[in-house]
Amino acid sequence: MVSTTAKTTTYFNFIDGSWVQSVSGNVFENRNPANQDDLIGVFQRSTRADVERAIDAAARAYEGWRLVPAPRRAELLFRAAQLIAERKELLARDMTREMGKILDETRGDVQEAIDMTYFMAGEGRRQYGQTVPSELRDKFAMSVRQPLGVCAVITPWNFPMAIPSWKIIPALVCGNTVVFKPATLTPLSALSFVKILEEAGVPPGVVNLVTGGGADVGDVLTASDRVRVVSFTGSTDVGRTVSEKSAPSFKKVHLEMGGKNVIMVMDDADLELAVEGCLWGGFGTTGQRCTAASRVVVHESVYKPFLDRFVQRARALRVGDGLDPRTQMGPSVSAGQLETVQKYVEIGRREGATLACGGHPLIGGDYAKGFFHEPTIFADVQPSMRIAQEEIFGPVVSVVPCKSFEEAIEIGNGVSYGLSASIYTRDINRAFAAMRDMYTGIFYVNAPTIGAEVHLPFGGTKATGNGHREAGTAALDVFSEWKSVYVDFSGRLQRAQIDTAEL
Ligand code: NAD
Repeated sequence: MVSTTAKTTTYFNFIDGSWVQSVSGNVFENRNPANQDDLIGVFQRSTRADVERAIDAAARAYEGWRLVPAPRRAELLFRAAQLIAERKELLARDMTREMGKILDETRGDVQEAIDMTYFMAGEGRRQYGQTVPSELRDKFAMSVRQPLGVCAVITPWNFPMAIPSWKIIPALVCGNTVVFKPATLTPLSALSFVKILEEAGVPPGVVNLVTGGGADVGDVLTASDRVRVVSFTGSTDVGRTVSEKSAPSFKKVHLEMGGKNVIMVMDDADLELAVEGCLWGGFGTTGQRCTAASRVVVHESVYKPFLDRFVQRARALRVGDGLDPRTQMGPSVSAGQLETVQKYVEIGRREGATLACGGHPLIGGDYAKGFFHEPTIFADVQPSMRIAQEEIFGPVVSVVPCKSFEEAIEIGNGVSYGLSASIYTRDINRAFAAMRDMYTGIFYVNAPTIGAEVHLPFGGTKATGNGHREAGTAALDVFSEWKSVYVDFSGRLQRAQIDTAEL
């Protein structure tokens, strides 16, 4: 798995049950975004030849794995869930070092992988199909799920263990094999997850890990005829490329992409509760969640008291290294992500929004070696402004005033994305109307836009997704396809839709 010198640990790819170096001989570094002096490790910069080897291994392993009874496959996954649970604290600490979010949140990320693995392992004894009466005598009709083959799993850095688990575990329980390409910013969490699957007894070739650049590794996966499913989570731009490159080979493509999620605070809301929700939704994970509440639409009659309280609480957030238990918000994940945040702060200023708090990177002292930024709130934002339309993926929240419930819904839906939305109100009629009228994949009442649980479908509409969902039993639809089976035990030719006269 690794080779270690006094200074550096080098991590390998996992192909066909062995930990191997890239044939390129090239590597890349992974450093802590809170402290760039902290080198986490060196990882393989893979190329086409590595990916092809991994696809070969996955294709070979598929012929055996698909025939292993699903309850037996599930036993290995239950074991894996147990191993993740035993190592939760270590995995969470590694993850905080690797991508910066605070320990409470990385523990939550690992917990989500545990929950998903247990939940999906349970599907080893379900994967229900249908049995229906046939329209003809002495004929049996049913549908069964069948696996598809080699699945490419391509994941982002913001949920380094949860998101891979949402894809890899349902793929395996359905009988597929996997080539996993994690984000270059979080290879260690990916590697630890795969190591656990190896230890749990998943056979060689069933799960393969290839680290490296998006185009170097990703393009080979999406273009390959032998890959039958691509499950991708990441930005909308890269998702479009993945979709286009996958199209010529007609593979199944599951895309989970960007968001511009909204919390709507109505005039009858519990304002204290709404402020709590907006803080957690807006600044949790440093705003780097696909479901982050980067827009807050507030009814004009409570706008000022809400904004005053929200700004006061955001100013008081303690920013720092996520490993410090006092820290409430960690760094941005990379220099590039911090630059994007600064770029959007500048755009917001130029567009004429009111900078209510924050607006600057944090530099010097404890912040000198990381990518820190103040929690930032723009007030008096117009719905058409870029800061209210485009995904920023940082600690920047736009507060937009509105005159009515109807206007809040219109503003809420008025973006190209459709992942998550929420409303704070005490009016049950409004809550249900908003639940119906917000065109998003996820909706919350009196809670922020984040907090999904693994046993319900997860995903979004419009530029967030392409109609699939992960998590819940919906994930089985991504990683299996239906076969309808008819068994005629009449001993004669019976023609459906034609031989209908006989009673
Ligand atoms: P990204 O799109 O830059 O990268 C995602 C993955 O795609 C990475 O592993 C990357 O290496 C890979 N990739 C890059 N180019 C590729 C190519 N040509 N072919 C195949 N793969 C390629 O996204 P990111 O910066 O890692 O993550 C942030 C984005 O992810 C945000 O837009 C966020 O909203 C989104 N996200 C969405 C969800 C969701 O469920 N909707 C969840 C988490 C994150």
